[in-house]
Amino acid sequence: TTPSAPLLEVRALSKAFKGVQALDKVNLQVRQGEILGLLGPNGSGKSTLINVVSGHYPLSGGEILFDGRNLTGAPAHRMAHAGIARTYQIPRPFAHMTVLQNVSLVAMFGCASLPQKQAVREAWKWLEFTGLQARAHALPEDLNLHQRKFLELARALAARPRLVLLDEVLSGLTPGEINEAIELIRRIRDQGATIVFVEHVMRAVMALTDRIVVLNHGKLIAQGEAAEVMKDSEVVNAYLGK
Ligand code: ADP
Ligand code: MG
Repeated sequence: TTPSAPLLEVRALSKAFKGVQALDKVNLQVRQGEILGLLGPNGSGKSTLINVVSGHYPLSGGEILFDGRNLTGAPAHRMAHAGIARTYQIPRPFAHMTVLQNVSLVAMFGCASLPQKQAVREAWKWLEFTGLQARAHALPEDLNLHQRKFLELARALAARPRLVLLDEVLSGLTPGEINEAIELIRRIRDQGATIVFVEHVMRAVMALTDRIVVLNHGKLIAQGEAAEVMKDSEVVNAYLGK
């Protein structure tokens, strides 16, 4: 790996909800082309970080720099246009639209901004990539969990993002489905995307990540190579709730 300027940098990023400091002055750099694992116990701020970086929640303090641009405080549609896509921990497709329409819509209105015909072609490409072609005309409610998770992925990818924020896409999948998803995530990176990957499935974290960071109570407590960081006593204690 060659050193390069960070694609994403957050400086002293903070987010407070009523009575909860969900993110507490987090400093973080994500390098172009890497897969960064974002770990931490439940409630440590992982989803909040994704929500703030993708512009879905306003921040309480700090800065967000993306590809050298200051995007601090930019709303979700601007983050999307800049090239940041995300998945939701709980999939959120448009319920009344088919799988194909869901993915096409993102291709039209994500950072790719394709005209409709081209967007539909782009959508088919990502349905093929995620193995969902046969379900193209189904409604999201007719999909099983594995297919709903892969639809989340297809929707994120159809925006042609430079940075993909994945929030627990593997949770609830069978071991075989997890292997399939690991392969997909590798291929996403090989196509040039940078990935931030929130995940509890350690096998996937070990297989995929170049580096991990660990949050606890909204603070970044450790970062480095997964195998090393998971031995860190502060990290072990965080997971044990100490
Ligand atoms: P994680 O994804 O690491 O499990 P979250 O980022 O979801 O953790 O939550 C971090 C903290 O912020 C938790 O205490 C959670 O209850 C709180 N929180 C998250 N989202 C909201 C919200 N929309 N309103 C109020 N509190 C929230
Ligand atoms: Mg979460």
